[in-house]
Amino acid sequence: MTKTYPNLIDGELVTTGDTMEVINPANEEVVGLVPSCGKEELDRAVAAARRAFKTWSKTPIEERRAAIMAISGAIKDNADELFRLLTTEQGKPHEQAKGEIFGAAGMAAAQSTLELPEETIQDDDTRLHRSRRVPVGVVGGIVPWNFPVMMAIQKIVPAMLSGCTIVLKPSPFTPLTTLRIAELIADKVPAGVVNIITGEDSLGPLITGHPDIDKITFTGSTATGKKIMEGASADLKRITLELGGNDASIVMPDADPKKIAEQLFWASFSNAGQICVAAKRVYIHEDIYDELSQAIVDYAKTVTVGDGSQQGTGVGPIQNKKQYERVLELIKDAKDNGYNFLLGGDKDPSGTGYYVPITILDNPPEDARIVAEEQFGPVMPLMKFSTEEEVIQRANNSDYGLAGAVWTADTDKGVEIAEQLETGTVWVNEYLHLSPFAPFGGHKQSGFGAEYGIEGLKEFTYPQVITVKKDAQVA
Ligand code: NAD
Repeated sequence: MTKTYPNLIDGELVTTGDTMEVINPANEEVVGLVPSCGKEELDRAVAAARRAFKTWSKTPIEERRAAIMAISGAIKDNADELFRLLTTEQGKPHEQAKGEIFGAAGMAAAQSTLELPEETIQDDDTRLHRSRRVPVGVVGGIVPWNFPVMMAIQKIVPAMLSGCTIVLKPSPFTPLTTLRIAELIADKVPAGVVNIITGEDSLGPLITGHPDIDKITFTGSTATGKKIMEGASADLKRITLELGGNDASIVMPDADPKKIAEQLFWASFSNAGQICVAAKRVYIHEDIYDELSQAIVDYAKTVTVGDGSQQGTGVGPIQNKKQYERVLELIKDAKDNGYNFLLGGDKDPSGTGYYVPITILDNPPEDARIVAEEQFGPVMPLMKFSTEEEVIQRANNSDYGLAGAVWTADTDKGVEIAEQLETGTVWVNEYLHLSPFAPFGGHKQSGFGAEYGIEGLKEFTYPQVITVKKDAQVA
């Protein structure tokens, strides 16, 4: 019988009458059932979070850190089970799933050490003037399907550390590993501090509009992010939005094609390209374009697309049918327009599993949909450029501003170009490295606010300034 994974509400593991099916994208089989919650369950979770907030917000920070470390430990101790389950529901190959599980445990542990000290602005004979951070209250966390565990942890940990309580909604496509973690932590966190409830997309607006939620922290598409901003405006909820990207990589003529081909490949194709910061547009200087594109294609031919649970798979399926159809549509659009394919381009959509062959396009125009839109799939458009000024202009010609990269033997030049890119993160000669201590957030329509580091933590708090007149004449 298919297992039903319970939700975590007020410290209790609960199920509802209505359930939703979770599909393994590698074979389209049902791998688990989860509760399909609506207003009633949400109200219960929010009420529990509100009750818990009274105590949790006053709990000494060392105890809050210890509870976060217990979550980190539970994830690490059960990593083997968790990464296999993650592959089953998300599709990513085992090695990458392992990376996400250990990454989430490590991120939680590292972020538990963050401090938000009080600041003294003035302290003299006349006045004490100090600023401190106070938790905003009950947080609604909404998470996507590409890194379901990492994103859930990224919401839960700063909420807990700051003294907030949280009601978290995983993506309906990938709730299982998060709910398994809920089972593992139910007795490690005080009742109501962390609540995890599942439901269709329609549960999202109920969270955004809930009158007793004080803040929304959301990761997902820009389109949904805009709806959240609108919904949250009714009672001026605080919001943090981590949204889409159309991240440009720039390869300068002094980069060695043999040394960077493999790195560039994985910048685009890790997690089957379903990473907000994946290299989604790759601009290569014309002097090395032919050699580098050939080296990338040669490497790509050594990578196996398949079921992520099978040894040797490098690129798994697309996570869900809707996204699979969207990626196939973008490939079809490129074909219909006569763009040149260096690899891929043919796909019989009738087989089982949401597999898209590794697809590499040769110099499509800037206005091609595959260049102008976020593909979020295993399709890499390579484009030729001539001058630095031109490529910076092309890289910045986007409503998105999440991340980018520069590849060059001259790191000073790399930094000079990086500083001209209109994105929240720019890598020089590496990719995907994120620090738990550095703010991560999008410019332009890639986000609002930031996660990670002190800046990310502050987003779960209000500043409060207390001023004491020391030489007051009151008594
Ligand atoms: P999505 O916006 O469709 O869904 C994300 C979450 O929002 C899901 O839990 C969904 O159920 C919920 N939701 C849907 N409609 C809602 C509504 N009207 N109100 C409130 N919640 C609603 O995104 P997705 O397809 O799951 O994820 C892919 C997108 O996420 C890509 O654009 C990707 O770039 C982006 N992403 C961004 C980051 C980042 O950190 N910037 C990280 C990962 C993914």
